[in-house]
Amino acid sequence: MEPILLNRCRFVLYSWRGDVGENVSVYIEDGRIAWIGADSPPLGAKSGFVVDCDKHVLMPCLYNAHTHAAMVLLRGYHDDSELMDWLGHMWAVEWNLDPHIVYLASKLAVLEMVAGGTCGFMDMYFYPEETVKAAKEVGVRVALGPVIMGDVDPYKAVEISLEFAKRFWRDDTVKPVFNVHSIYATPHDAIKLAAEKSLELGVPLHIHVSETRREVYEAKKRYGVFPVELLDRKLKALHSRTVLVHAGWIASWELELVKRARASIVHCPTSNMKLATAGHFPAYEAIEMGINVGLGTDGAASNNSLDMFLEMKMMVMLQRHSYWDTRIKAVHALKAATIGSAHAMGLEDVGEVRVGYKADLVLLDIVSPRIQPLRQDNLVSTIVYAATGDNVAYTIVDGKPVYTPENREEMFEEAVRIAGELNSFIEKLGGEKIQVPPCSPQQACKMPTMSVKGGSVIAKPG
Ligand SMILES: [Zn+2]
Repeated sequence: MEPILLNRCRFVLYSWRGDVGENVSVYIEDGRIAWIGADSPPLGAKSGFVVDCDKHVLMPCLYNAHTHAAMVLLRGYHDDSELMDWLGHMWAVEWNLDPHIVYLASKLAVLEMVAGGTCGFMDMYFYPEETVKAAKEVGVRVALGPVIMGDVDPYKAVEISLEFAKRFWRDDTVKPVFNVHSIYATPHDAIKLAAEKSLELGVPLHIHVSETRREVYEAKKRYGVFPVELLDRKLKALHSRTVLVHAGWIASWELELVKRARASIVHCPTSNMKLATAGHFPAYEAIEMGINVGLGTDGAASNNSLDMFLEMKMMVMLQRHSYWDTRIKAVHALKAATIGSAHAMGLEDVGEVRVGYKADLVLLDIVSPRIQPLRQDNLVSTIVYAATGDNVAYTIVDGKPVYTPENREEMFEEAVRIAGELNSFIEKLGGEKIQVPPCSPQQACKMPTMSVKGGSVIAKPG
């Protein structure tokens, strides 16, 4: 692996804490940060890839801790429904998916993410091996696994997840995940079993929870407890590797359970606002209690962007709007998007510019009116509130420059080519007129037909 010298960067943001340096050089060897300093780099440092970064900000990479990458296929497809109705429209298209379309859509999503300073993402979608292929071609990290949902045989479903996990057990950039859709779309025996196996193997158990008021109401009515209580007490699915996504309607006593279990929560502010799920994920209380909080965009069908810079701003905005005060700061969002998300995904030694850490780094081009005037004292607020993914000039993952000004044009041309194929697919299906399945995802769970689709065991609606 070629060493990299980032020579005299105008600013370096070392971590989410807001510690900033000026005119700093960083040397990367064997995928890790080997040296940081203001004077001349170590001997032989110039033999590799060199970036003179006097017009750049060096910062840790961002990680998207919850998305459905291939849903870029449905970006702008059905923008104006609430969650359950919206899901029906998504499913109408998703029953027609094939591996090649998932690969193409995943590739487009990965190109968008890497060009926007995201080094890795946690994914939940069909045909996960196609998303692995897309991520590997570009060189980003991904945490994923088959989706367990519908009226499935719990043993078979978990076995498929285990087989997937075994395939990527020793992979540098692919982390296996037990992807359990939710308490309303996954059989509870499967959740129990997946939870047991995920803890045993130290693999994330990734689940949507308490996203809507209706989900909480139904859980209380059917099981006598709230969704997170159900996961904890009845399904034994709340443990240190559990990653709860959304938690917009989580109760204060449920937060205590999350804390005790040392589980993570991933906040998806834009998706929650767009799907009008309301509620309020109490980020401040969670952070104060020491709960690990990550940040995710959710899929591009409910966001409609995969830009983690925008998502950081949305986190602060939504939280302030909900609390009616400014207790949530830019650094909270920066922490969630860096080490918070990385921890949820099971990544170690990333999220800071520090010697010995893995070189997952971003260089922002400061020659942009959007992020000027830039100074040491306003760097964090400018990154969180003013920068977007479009300010990213370089993305380095695992010590490799995967997005650079040199390959930008080629990558964007590929994105346009892929978009053409995805548009043809949607047009062939009939565009917005595609018939919505005659059942909600919950009803689909009760359908007797079980099929193995895209490496995921799910029930097919009639
Ligand atoms: Zn989601």
